[in-house]
Amino acid sequence: EAMGCTVLPISGGNTDRQLMLMKDMGVTVIACTPSYFLHLIDEGMKKGIDFKADMKLKHGIFGAEPWTEEMRAKIESLTGITAHDIYGLTEISGPGVANDCSHRRGLHVFEDHFYPEIVDPETLEPLPDGEQGELVFTTLSRTGTPMLRYRTRDLSRILTGPCPCGRTIRAIERISARSDDMLIIRGVNVFPSQIEAGLMAIDAVLPHYLIVVDKIGDLDTLEIKVEVTPETFSDDIKSLEKLRARIGHAVQRIINISATITLVEPHTLPRSEGKLRRVTDLRKKA
Ligand SMILES: [Zn+2]
Repeated sequence: EAMGCTVLPISGGNTDRQLMLMKDMGVTVIACTPSYFLHLIDEGMKKGIDFKADMKLKHGIFGAEPWTEEMRAKIESLTGITAHDIYGLTEISGPGVANDCSHRRGLHVFEDHFYPEIVDPETLEPLPDGEQGELVFTTLSRTGTPMLRYRTRDLSRILTGPCPCGRTIRAIERISARSDDMLIIRGVNVFPSQIEAGLMAIDAVLPHYLIVVDKIGDLDTLEIKVEVTPETFSDDIKSLEKLRARIGHAVQRIINISATITLVEPHTLPRSEGKLRRVTDLRKKA
């Protein structure tokens, strides 16, 4: 509002109404989780709304969920918007602790309010700028419930050197993983974001996937269900098999273990109106 913008606070859910308001009011910027924006695109498509032609949307500010550079590229190519990354956490202030600038060289931390540190997650010793570790925040302006060296479990590093945008507040590297997101599959450490990066690099793959980890006998199994474009499904079995193999190789190259790839039709995997869980670990039930 201070910048002359009209704000439409709509909260989550009620997707039809969101789409109608975005279209009718000519909304230019949206802020939500990346998975909810994907859900909006998806529901829009079903109603014949083309984000590029029918919406005035220019920018998206997405956060509260881990998402990759590859997912950003997918969202931008589907909608023609510029997708920005915002970082925050409920315990500190909610959204707005850090945000990327147009140079996308990490996310600038609003250092006048939040003091960032990177620590070794095992020893908790502070690490120098440039080294990867767990992000820790101290609030500088919060009253009532200040936070001192609050451990986020998010893995990042503080970037060194100036940003071409001219801002002098430091930036943190885009959060690629949370220390408690890590899966151990057949003894190998796997982050869901690594799988996402492999999947999203392939054109025929839609930004909807589900990772299922299970155990058969003593062996961990990894299945990745992924939606592919309707055109792909009209192809013959041989090309589908080829695509399945290509996705399998792309993922294996990154995580170093093999996965069973299941191609599914569009609109068949779970969607989210808030934060989406893309990992089902069935081993935990055993
Ligand atoms: Zn910058």
